[in-house]
Amino acid sequence: MRKPFIAGNWKMNTNNAEAVALVSGLVEQLGEIATVDVAVCVPFVYLRAVADTLSSSNIALGAQDVFYEDNGAFTGEISCRMLKDACCTYVIIGHSERRHIIGETDELINRKLHTAISGGLLPILCVGELLEQRQADETNEIVTGQIKKGLEGIDAEKILAVTVAYEPVWAIGTGLTATARQAQEVHAMIRSLLGEMYGRDTAEQIRIQYGGSAKPANTAELMANPDVDGLLVGGASLKVEDFSAMIRTVA
Ligand code: PEP
Repeated sequence: MRKPFIAGNWKMNTNNAEAVALVSGLVEQLGEIATVDVAVCVPFVYLRAVADTLSSSNIALGAQDVFYEDNGAFTGEISCRMLKDACCTYVIIGHSERRHIIGETDELINRKLHTAISGGLLPILCVGELLEQRQADETNEIVTGQIKKGLEGIDAEKILAVTVAYEPVWAIGTGLTATARQAQEVHAMIRSLLGEMYGRDTAEQIRIQYGGSAKPANTAELMANPDVDGLLVGGASLKVEDFSAMIRTVA
C-alpha cells in the first residue's frame, strides 16, 4: 500500500516573511497529519527559516534542485550536503521549468539523481510531455525516454528512494489539468515501465505523483485513480487554505 504524498513546489515565489507565514499557516491548519506524507519545496534562501518553523511538525522540507558535486568551484550551485545541512529531506529534480527554460538534459538530471540518492535525499523526478508532443501522440515515448535516461544506473534498491512526478508540461501553471483518465493512463504506463526495469513488486511500491494545475476542486478526482499516489502542486501550494484543503481531501 503506497502512502499518499503531496508536495508543494513554491518555485521562485515568496519572501522570507511570506515563507514563514505560509508554513506557519500549514502547521496550524494541518496539525499532525499521519495518513499523508506532506512536503514543501522552498527557494534555497528560505530553507533555514522554513526548517525552523517546521521543527515540531511532520511536514517535510524539500529543495527545488541540487548540483551533482559535493563542493568546489561551481559558482551559484547548491550541493546535497548543503541541503541536508538546511534540513531538507526531499529534492525536486528535472522539473519541466528546469528542462525547458534552463536547458537541463536527461544526462544532467541523471547525475543529480545519483548524487541526491547517495547523499541521503529523496528525489522527486519530474517527467512530462509538451503540448505538441501530446498532440503528436508522443506522450508515452517522451515519458519513457525521460524515465529510462533519468534513472539510468539507479538499481532496484535505490529506486525506492525516488518519487516520480508525471507533469504534463501543457498543464503546469496554465489552469489546464489532465483529465483523471489522461493522468491514470500515463501513470499506469509509468508503473508498467518501472515494472520492466525493477520488477513488479518494486514498481508497486514506487509513488507516482501527478502535477499540473492540481487544486482543491480536482484533487479527489485525480487521487481516485489507482496509480495516482499523490500530487506535486505549484500555484495552489502558495495558498494555505488551498494546499491544506487538498491535503485534508487526500487524508
Ligand atoms: C509544478 O510546479 O510542478 C506545478 C505542477 O505547477 P502548477 O500546480 O502551478 O501547475
